[in-house]
Amino acid sequence: MRGVDGARAKPDAAIALRAARTAAGWAVSAAVLPAACLAATLTLIAGTGCERQGTPDTARTGAVDSTSATAEVISRGRAGLHAVVPSVALVGEPVKLTVAPLTDLGTPDLKWRGTLEIESTDSALVSFGPFAAHQGSFARDIVFRTPGFQRVTVRSDHGETTIAGPVFVARTEEELRVRAGEPARRLYWGDAHGHTDLGDGTNPPATYLAYARDVARLDFTCVSEHDLQQYLDVGFDTVPSGWDSVRTVAEEYRRPGFAVLLGWEWSSREWGHRVVLFPGDEPRYVSFRHAPTPAALARELAGTGAVSVLAHPTGSRLTPPVVWEGYVPGFDRAIEIYSGHGSNDESDFRETSDPDPARSALESIRRGLPLGIVAFSDTHLSTPGNPWPPEIRDAPWPGGLTAVWAEQPTEASILDAIANGRCYATSGPRFYVEATLDDRTFGETLELRAGTSARLRATVAAPGILREVQVRLGDEVYRKFAGGGPQMEIELTVGPFDESTAVWLTGRSDDDERLWTTPIRVLVP
Ligand SMILES: [Zn+2]
Ligand SMILES: [Zn+2]
Repeated sequence: MRGVDGARAKPDAAIALRAARTAAGWAVSAAVLPAACLAATLTLIAGTGCERQGTPDTARTGAVDSTSATAEVISRGRAGLHAVVPSVALVGEPVKLTVAPLTDLGTPDLKWRGTLEIESTDSALVSFGPFAAHQGSFARDIVFRTPGFQRVTVRSDHGETTIAGPVFVARTEEELRVRAGEPARRLYWGDAHGHTDLGDGTNPPATYLAYARDVARLDFTCVSEHDLQQYLDVGFDTVPSGWDSVRTVAEEYRRPGFAVLLGWEWSSREWGHRVVLFPGDEPRYVSFRHAPTPAALARELAGTGAVSVLAHPTGSRLTPPVVWEGYVPGFDRAIEIYSGHGSNDESDFRETSDPDPARSALESIRRGLPLGIVAFSDTHLSTPGNPWPPEIRDAPWPGGLTAVWAEQPTEASILDAIANGRCYATSGPRFYVEATLDDRTFGETLELRAGTSARLRATVAAPGILREVQVRLGDEVYRKFAGGGPQMEIELTVGPFDESTAVWLTGRSDDDERLWTTPIRVLVP
């Protein structure tokens, strides 16, 4: 490990100021020997995001008397490689393996020099050519030739090691079908909640999108700036043409395979925050000052295809919690179970600074609300998908990621998956999860006669070792499966059901990372 000092940096310290854009590929096969660092194109400045200031009691009522722009950026003392491969591939299909050397703050380590070696569980893996460098990360085409779950271990000559995957390698497109009669879907990964210097974050939207695309290697993202962050008086409302400028930069950064959703964080103190996401370009922008209730917002956005995600529902010292009475069926479609603020859905995992179980994502399941379960970062440093971000005020944790089963990595297809709950949340790692209850999957409803049961089939795989998978009915743990290997196949009769409930999975890996799926709803009339 390199560059690890555990030091605290000042919030105005520039982090990773040097960037590399190298013109030519690297000379040696299977080796990376960057020869020239050219323009400094990716500059990341650490700063603060503060949404709410004060003690828990005053914050809950919104009575706030001070704001502060200071924050400590605390190093996690970790640096290393971030390697990514798609979670689904076909035998014989070329896919990209990307490797980003990161600093201990998750920013690109643009001074990194070294040699990378790869090794795979697929002994027949073929890799093509040398790694090519782009914006501080390295990519090469690889081809899996053995069906099943595969992983790629990447090692550097500095002793850094990381695992990309798991990848489900299918024999044919047909095998990718979640179930007969459905289009073949693949898994795509994203982080669609974060802030930039248009609002209460740091670094411009272009840096945000460059980080998502070229460093974190997300399939989708969104610059979801506040309409108005009321304590600091910043956000789209205060930047002339702010919304249009994000539309323009989003268009610049979109690529086939990289979707940039448009949206903003509707930031009502009274009703809680909502990340509003659109399926395509959208000229309409509506502040909470114009649409002060969730119902009014839904009315204003009718016909746009907008999808609302309940953000940080538990609240924290600096963020307001959800108010269930504001729930708008058909508009509110997903809920953050975890973010950089934490979670309180499991008492032993990364609590928020102001936990309230009655306002958690778990509570939405208890209430039977048909919401997709997602996890985002709420980054205020323009580093969506950062695998090891620094702690900043009230967001002491690495942010989460959301996996969607979608037909295409396009804005419309990904948002359709989120809106319909074909998604699950993780605390960051790219777990693979697939599940059906009879013939229904995440986000769908299975209607059953009272007293009948259903067959659950699930496949869960971790980058490393799975410690446990739990099958849950509502908020009860129905069955626990101990892991010990990299993946688990579960087949189980669940029931008989006497009343409507929600069947979902949670899991954890040996290094205590988590996953939470959207429920499959069981309707017993
Ligand atoms: Zn918020
Ligand atoms: Zn936010």
